[in-house]
Amino acid sequence: MQYSKHNIFSKIAESESYYIVNPLSGQADILEPKEAQKYIDQNITNTQAYIDKGYLVEPKEEAKLFKKKYLDFIDERDSDEVQLFFTPWYTCNFNCSYCFQDEYTNANDDVKDEVIDAFFKYIDEKFVSRQKYITIFGGEPLLNSPAKKESIKKVIAGANQRNLDIAFVTNGYHITEYIDILKTARIREIQVTVDGTQQVHDSRRMLKGGKGSFSKIAEGVSLLLENNMPVNMRMIVDKDNINTLPDLARFAIEKGWTESPFFKTALGRNYELHHCQTNNTRLFKRIEMYQEIYDIVKEHPEILEFHKPAFSIAKFIFENGELPNPLFDSCSGAKTEWAFDYSGRVYSCTATVGNIGDELGTFYPKIELKEDLIEEWEERDVLSIKECNNCPVQLACGGGCAAIAKSRTGKLHSPDCRPVKGLLELGIGLYSVS
Ligand code: SF4
Ligand code: SF4
Repeated sequence: MQYSKHNIFSKIAESESYYIVNPLSGQADILEPKEAQKYIDQNITNTQAYIDKGYLVEPKEEAKLFKKKYLDFIDERDSDEVQLFFTPWYTCNFNCSYCFQDEYTNANDDVKDEVIDAFFKYIDEKFVSRQKYITIFGGEPLLNSPAKKESIKKVIAGANQRNLDIAFVTNGYHITEYIDILKTARIREIQVTVDGTQQVHDSRRMLKGGKGSFSKIAEGVSLLLENNMPVNMRMIVDKDNINTLPDLARFAIEKGWTESPFFKTALGRNYELHHCQTNNTRLFKRIEMYQEIYDIVKEHPEILEFHKPAFSIAKFIFENGELPNPLFDSCSGAKTEWAFDYSGRVYSCTATVGNIGDELGTFYPKIELKEDLIEEWEERDVLSIKECNNCPVQLACGGGCAAIAKSRTGKLHSPDCRPVKGLLELGIGLYSVS
């Protein structure tokens, strides 16, 4: 018998106690300091309890369980819903200070009707037996010109004909101009990015020409919620705006947004993808960002009404009273996520769409897929990434984002490490007392 290689064990933030979490056996416990010391000294006395929880294992038996859970994971993923992104153009009316698409060389073309038809024909054939929904992505999909509105209406009509939900990823500036069109769709979610309250948001997410966008976006968000359309408000966080989180939370609470069952939030880390950002000293490392968030939430607990950070699987454990299934792969690209653009190209996901060299084929003018590249994406998981093989946090991390890993190392099957141990220290610390 030996300690499971999937035990994640560490001290809880601002506590003398420790946690032990095992994503393979699905068990988690808080250990008092004395018990934790016995664990550290490999001198545990209640051996049977450790065996029952899968913290103490026969390696051969554990390997069998690992294989079984892996096969379950693959089976489940094969029946998961697929998210199909469609980018009708890369044009945008904003000039965000950190846009990772700003060096893309794609022409500012409008999508042709025949490309929209080809997109639907492709998904009808390729994803015939799969549950699916469509997400419209850009550039900025909700641009206020008659031609662009006609294109969006055509995509909505195609989705409606197939009874498919549709989501939008938008900067939110023209929601008011689009509300009647949106009402005709089966809206899954409208993701709107807001980077803080007025002053900070407007200094980062301004219109081309420099005009601020906050007030108009806030008006659009209220309108969506009044119409019971789900809003996912995403804040892109770095060192320049993290301190505005309490103000934004208060703003959302005062607006009544957080009371709506149709309102949810996400925090995204501003990071480098494909090219260097001009001012990269403002970027957080993952753990740094969560440490800051932890400190800010401690000081302003009302933030939790606006957003509850995941801290790896910590939030899940406290909300559900159990662990999530082991995560053998955290990247959905070319598996349960695909992206398509107006030029007829096929990509793995939103991180690669439009980036020259990342195409996985075309759906227009004819279907031509790079099967070898697609296979490489499909096969990426914690078993295929050498560095992940003996990593104790592999089943909470899942190998991270393939696009980030590739942009950093040049190799798709390389790790994009998540600081799981540190995140759990913070998350368990925060949620076990709140
Ligand atoms: S490559 Fe990154 S962004 Fe794309 S699906 Fe995978 S994890 Fe998500
Ligand atoms: S990506 Fe890094 S942290 Fe994640 S499982 Fe692999 S080696 Fe571990």
